[in-house]
Order: sequence, then structure tokens, then C-alpha cells
Amino acid sequence: MTDSTRSIEELEEVRRRTLREIARLREQLQAEIEPASADDDDMADVAADIYERGKTISLISSLEDKLHSIEHAIAVATSGQYGVCEVCGQPIPAERLQIMPETTLCVQCASKLEQGIRRHRIMTADRINARRISEAETEDTEGDDGEEEY
Ligand SMILES: [Zn+2]
Repeated sequence: MTDSTRSIEELEEVRRRTLREIARLREQLQAEIEPASADDDDMADVAADIYERGKTISLISSLEDKLHSIEHAIAVATSGQYGVCEVCGQPIPAERLQIMPETTLCVQCASKLEQGIRRHRIMTADRINARRISEAETEDTEGDDGEEEY
């Protein structure tokens, strides 16, 4: 009982820190827009700015993903299930929770899920490619077969 209360407090702290970090990066993003739109005629500088901004944006989006996980973990902790794997029901080792307090899965289930997501992404990409190829093939009903180049 006291254990899960402490976990919720720790998770809330991680959540606050993540929110602060997102806010800081958003401010940084705002500040970065200014000099680039000024009379900066150096294309390399502009390109570097765009690159930096892209990195900041992807950092923000990964922090937002983390925030969702933390909020989910808080909900799990509130129901008294924190520290138990949501898939297999086995306890999650304390060391893992220390490194990733937002996790609600054990290492085995997390890696299985990760592999599943990766496979799903590859399959989706394959399907899109296959559709593109078949569309390209059906578009070209006349003409020589085997002519791949445009
Ligand atoms: Zn598990």
C-alpha cells in the first residue's frame, strides 16, 4: 500500500520533469525560429538550423510518447497494479523500474512487443510498396512487358 503510494509520487515527479523538459524544448524551438527568419543569408547556417530544429522536434515527440507511458503507469499504479507486467502478470524487477519508471511491461514482454511493432511496420511498408508496384503495373496495360524504367 505505502509502496504503490510512493510509486505514484515518483511517477508524478517524472511526469512533472518530462512536462518541464517538453516546455523548455518548445521554448527553445520558438527561440530558434527567430534568427533563421532574420537577414541570415548563409545557407549552411539555415540548413544547420533546420537540422537542429528537426532534432528538437523529434526529441519533443519522443518525450510526449514517454509522457503517455508515464500517465498510463500512473493509472496502473493507482489501481494497485504497478510493478506487475501487464501482459504476463510477472513482477517487473526493481532495477528495471528504477531505470524506466514508466514501464508497465517486463523485459521479455517489452521486447516481444517491440519486435511485433517492428514486424508490423515492415509488413505495412511492404504492403504499401506492393500496392504501388501493382498500381504501376496495371496503369501500364499496353506497351512492352518488363519495361521497368520510365
Ligand atoms: Zn511480461
